[in-house]
Amino acid sequence: MNIKPVLIAGGGLAGCEAAWQLGERRVPVTLYEMRPARPTPAHKTDRLAELVCSNSLKSNAPGSASWLLKEELRRCGSLLLRLADRTAVPGGAALAVDRLRFAEEITAAVERHPFIEVRREEFRQIPGDSLVLIATGPLTSGALASQLEAVTGSANLAFYDAISPIVDSETLNLDRIFPASRYGKGGAEDYLNCPLNEQEYRLFYEALRSADTVERHAFEDLNYFESCLPIEELARRGYDTLRFGPMKPVGLIDPRTGRQPYAVVQLRPESLRFASYNLVGFQNHLKFPEQKRILRLIPGLGNVEFLRFGQIHRNTYINAPAVLAPDLSLRPASHVFVAGQLSGVEGYVESIATGLLAGLALAGRRNGQTFVPPPRSTALGSLVHYITCADASHYQPANISFDLLPALEGLPRSVARDRRARRDKQCECALADLGSWIDGWDALAAPPAEQARTRAVPFL
Ligand SMILES: Cc1cc2nc3c(=O)[nH]c(=O)nc-3n(C[C@H](O)[C@H](O)[C@H](O)COP(=O)(O)OP(=O)(O)OC[C@H]3O[C@@H](n4cnc5c(N)ncnc54)[C@H](O)[C@@H]3O)c2cc1C
Repeated sequence: MNIKPVLIAGGGLAGCEAAWQLGERRVPVTLYEMRPARPTPAHKTDRLAELVCSNSLKSNAPGSASWLLKEELRRCGSLLLRLADRTAVPGGAALAVDRLRFAEEITAAVERHPFIEVRREEFRQIPGDSLVLIATGPLTSGALASQLEAVTGSANLAFYDAISPIVDSETLNLDRIFPASRYGKGGAEDYLNCPLNEQEYRLFYEALRSADTVERHAFEDLNYFESCLPIEELARRGYDTLRFGPMKPVGLIDPRTGRQPYAVVQLRPESLRFASYNLVGFQNHLKFPEQKRILRLIPGLGNVEFLRFGQIHRNTYINAPAVLAPDLSLRPASHVFVAGQLSGVEGYVESIATGLLAGLALAGRRNGQTFVPPPRSTALGSLVHYITCADASHYQPANISFDLLPALEGLPRSVARDRRARRDKQCECALADLGSWIDGWDALAAPPAEQARTRAVPFL
């Protein structure tokens, strides 16, 4: 019997993980990777799953959100995490890998898999009669991006990302900050405001003028939208430009002085838990240590912990909450699945995570099963929840952080008050819930009988 393969576009982190998960469940896969015939501006080799920049998969320290996501992936049998662990190099608290060996081992594993056929071709056309996974990443080729745009609607496909920094609310100095909405419109708690007097503004402005910015790749020479300019570019345009832009103080009265401040930085809650705040309009291209140094000059942010730094970079991604279902298929075309950076997550491990889940969901779909994502209490489940349920009107891709996970209720006071203990507990609960979810897999992705009889799948 001739069984149609699942088509996967993109042999990057997400595409390889998805292909492996499908192959291991004896679902035939054709994986399309356009390199080396058609290179991207960032990849340097013809290997699959090449890390385009840093060789770090972030923290491997138990109790951190990034560790939790990795640990969940390990427990789900992720190929890429297994090979990352195998090719690890010293990286302090981070899981850093030998990037060449990492990519080579993944390439060998995927190319050797009897259920995976790798085709070195650009995937240009989304067919209507096959299950398809689009995992072509932030540098998706133009032809495929146009196809995707046609399926999702052009308003739901973005080509670059202007990200404001996010800070941990527990590290704000609330003695220097006041809650208020401009002109008293909206709820009093909608914004926190960091007021600056003239001297503080000048200090901040001068630091920004001499700040060290990230060297931009030639392909990232973006024509910024005027409404999305980086703060250092605004500062370059004049001393007062920021005070008439994202730092404008009008409509805000500092209750400590009874007056309008000279300038203001507004913080908007990132979630209903008020566990983290985003610095409104503070997208920038500064080096991360520079952001830390300069943004900490803002009153109230002196000791702040950054959960995410600001960035502006080329990135193709869908407005996931508007178009993506919880099984990572597109609502307007349910035979098309999306994973990796393109699905609206940010980062290597997050891309692997959505690749793994899409692989499982596709395996389930092949068997007529409805895919139920991991519980919300897990990092995997919270990532899916974020991309499918966040506010679609100003969606921004996210890394995993504890802020995406629901707060634990009913903790003993000693644990609730101790951040470290709280996070350890959160990880413990997440891993326990993930275990129960994994136990339910058998029904989800049982191998099709006719294939199981004919082929055996070797494990690495
Ligand atoms: C310049 C740059 C630097 C980054 N640095 C980091 C970092 O340091 N740390 C971090 O965590 N994240 C980083 N990211 C973000 C992101 O996590 C990575 O890009 C990650 O590799 C995304 O995984 P992916 O599988 O979605 O896409 P990729 O790993 O990029 O894989 C997509 C693959 O699809 C192929 N492809 C594209 N179009 C087609 C097509 N039409 N047909 C067939 N194949 C196609 C590409 O050649 C590529 O191999 C960076 C992104 C960029 C652009």
